[in-house]
Amino acid sequence: MTNDPKGPPLGPETLAVRAGQHRTAEAEQSEPIFATSSFVYESAAQAAARFSGEEPGNIYSRFTNPTVRTFQERLAAMEGGERCVATASGMSAILATGLGLLSQGDHIVAGRQLFGSTVGLFANHFSRFGITTTFVDATDPDAWAAATTPATKLFFLETPSNPLLEIADIAAIAEVAHAHGAWLAVDNCLCTPALQRPLELGADIVIHSATKYIDGQGRALGGAVVGSEAEMGAVYNFLRSAGPTMSPFNAWIFLKGLETLSLRMRAHSAAAGELAAWLEGQPGIARVHYPGLAAHPGHDLAARQQSAPGGLLAFELEGGRAAAWAFIDALEIASITANLGDAKTTVTHPATTTHSRMTPEQREEAGITEGLVRIAVGLETVADLRADLQRGLEAATGVAP
Ligand SMILES: *Cc1c(COP(=O)(O)O)cnc(C)c1O
Repeated sequence: MTNDPKGPPLGPETLAVRAGQHRTAEAEQSEPIFATSSFVYESAAQAAARFSGEEPGNIYSRFTNPTVRTFQERLAAMEGGERCVATASGMSAILATGLGLLSQGDHIVAGRQLFGSTVGLFANHFSRFGITTTFVDATDPDAWAAATTPATKLFFLETPSNPLLEIADIAAIAEVAHAHGAWLAVDNCLCTPALQRPLELGADIVIHSATKYIDGQGRALGGAVVGSEAEMGAVYNFLRSAGPTMSPFNAWIFLKGLETLSLRMRAHSAAAGELAAWLEGQPGIARVHYPGLAAHPGHDLAARQQSAPGGLLAFELEGGRAAAWAFIDALEIASITANLGDAKTTVTHPATTTHSRMTPEQREEAGITEGLVRIAVGLETVADLRADLQRGLEAATGVAP
């Protein structure tokens, strides 16, 4: 079931539950897992027709699998894109986008506050094949324009950014990209289509790490790219040859995750909003980064382009690294891990984990201070999480309740 252009448009929650399902002759209610590497033909002639592309249909699960297809059709419908290509991880979604669409000599302009492995992929690997990248302040559309060259083909943006939750203006940056003949790709991992739909704001490509909120329970790695038929065809052709495709089992986990995504995102966001507001008034905290707070520089923009501020928050403790580590070690509910988007709340010290490979100067420039703590708020009872943060603050500051 997808949107019928002749009928009234289906709501996002309906698409999340129903889009992409192709019920088999077994009349199953829940989508099946097609755990098979290859598919069988009725005749040699049919095999030839499938391989030549004359006849549509399944061939081999590196590039055609019905469970993966259901996930792809569902996510494409939710993002409002023509086509989705599923990948083995979020990083392979970014790899397939770059190598599917770009060639030697092409140039990327990217936001500076990108996921660390994305920076590594662009700066250390794409560069070896003659694809160069300029990193800019993502919140300043003029900086994107100033960084373009005649070779610029791709703008790459993450909003909100991780871990500082900077908000960049997707519509304004899309305009700059198109004026320079470039595509705008948005990594929509932190919001998911439940909270933000970049294609509706003018972006050309949406990237996902399905590992995070789309799974929602910290079980499986996966990724996806969504966009128009033409661009996704190029991404698909790269993936079909190169191989980092999504497994049918993981596709099944993710497509079931999509069914509850909107509910979960609203719950993550409501809990994060409550905790951010509470943290703002606590002693020992220099600053809380959360776009739902009126003091956040991206507050108004987030309110325009997102339907809720999201489940991630960060804050700076006055006591630097010692305070941050004492805080983290005192928590009894939150798990110390770098993953996010899990039903279980997770806590991270970015300076010594996710951002530890940056130099101290790079970290300072990026705003990743020694006292910074990131919380990916889960789905536990909010009062219990607040009590956990209170334990952390007492350990960090020595302040009694
Ligand atoms: C985790 C993450 C990725 C990479 O995804 P993997 O599934 O770990 O490969 C990319 N972008 C963002 C914003 C992420 O949080």
